[in-house]
Amino acid sequence: MQTSFSPVQLADPAVAESERILRKCVHCGFCTATCPTYLELGNELDSPRGRIYLIKDMLENDRPANEEVARHIDRCLSCLSCMTTCPSGVDYMHLVDHARVHIEKTYRRPLADRLLRALLARILPYPTRFRAALHAARLARPFVSVFEAFGGPFTRLAAMLRLSGTPGPKPAAALYAVPSAPKARVAILKGCAQSVLDPGINRAAENLLARFGIEIVHPEGEVCCGALSHHMGREEDARAFVRRNVDVWTREIEKGLDAVLITTSGCGTVVKDYGHILAEDRHYAEKAAEIALRTFDISEYLARLDLPSAGPRETAVAYHSACSLQHGQRVTLQPRMLLERAGFTVKEIGEGHICCGSAGTYNILQPAIARRLRDRKLRHIAETQADMIVAGNIGCITQLRSGTRTPVLHLVELLDWAYGGPVPPALGASVPNTEVSK
Ligand code: SF4
Ligand code: SF4
Repeated sequence: MQTSFSPVQLADPAVAESERILRKCVHCGFCTATCPTYLELGNELDSPRGRIYLIKDMLENDRPANEEVARHIDRCLSCLSCMTTCPSGVDYMHLVDHARVHIEKTYRRPLADRLLRALLARILPYPTRFRAALHAARLARPFVSVFEAFGGPFTRLAAMLRLSGTPGPKPAAALYAVPSAPKARVAILKGCAQSVLDPGINRAAENLLARFGIEIVHPEGEVCCGALSHHMGREEDARAFVRRNVDVWTREIEKGLDAVLITTSGCGTVVKDYGHILAEDRHYAEKAAEIALRTFDISEYLARLDLPSAGPRETAVAYHSACSLQHGQRVTLQPRMLLERAGFTVKEIGEGHICCGSAGTYNILQPAIARRLRDRKLRHIAETQADMIVAGNIGCITQLRSGTRTPVLHLVELLDWAYGGPVPPALGASVPNTEVSK
């Protein structure tokens, strides 16, 4: 794609990077075939190629974002399916990140939108506030249908209440003993939303790792990974979170930390991008790049541990590959391999490359599209006739749970159980027969 940025514009590193990205696009449109919003809405401006044109026009002409640009960029899930499809290697992720920052800086959203976004940015990344908000949401939940009937901005409020759930129970005390001669020392990102909604996920990961000789450290001072602010274009908020975590983990690296593990793949994609996020910060660029290199999704790390093979079980698992994991991090084989090694039958989900509609705060900010995508995903899952659904991202887990009675659980909860841990709470009394066949 030809571009015509001026030298003055290109002096800005963010613009220079976007220009390099734009030049790689050859307009072929292959990406449209795998873009969830294009498939659902059928509008070229809701496809990757259409959005690329909108972004190019806005940046090249140094224009503030307008309502049309904001609408079509807001509808993008940042699922990155288009990046997996693109034969030219267009780095859509960093292009749309830049566009979101530009929109945030130059476009004045309608009041209700501004208020909702400010609320999400001030609550979700902070576990104490988020927990309090969930308790408050319980009181408002009986009025969901009233909010839905009002329509307009109230639809988003209704979506938020429907998805809010309740804080997860405190996980049982750690079952693991610290290995006397650990094979490695790792930290697991505590996370913000997940640590409130389902703290048992990290506990399952800790149990599992410790059982296979890995020492877990809990560094003081860790905060939200920054993903929530980052995806809303709140660049400075996101960088503040990132710097804080870089400081915390760098101190641990100096004491001998081998890896930072992530159990929420949406966060993992951003932590693996820390080097890029702070590339222009001379005090942090190197340290942030080092953290990114040592960051792994939990499934990547477990796959390296060579867990023992179990015989086949009579349990079929539909594995939902979160977009952030399959498209953002290109981690596709490891979760399936781990499930099969633990004896489960893995059922592939039709249209597995298409987003479930969760996408961070997307299911709150774009509830109608998110719901269509959720239902589309659940229809494909139902076709597998699996006993349970497994994913590696709390956002997807919450989204899918809101539309199905089939148990939805995190990969590590199922693996922990398979290797001797407790029954995952999501299975409740409906524990299917997971006995290993003789
Ligand atoms: S990130 Fe996803 S929703 Fe956005 S343009 Fe790409 S494929 Fe479409
Ligand atoms: S597939 Fe890649 S090169 Fe083709 S239009 Fe989409 S982004 Fe551009």
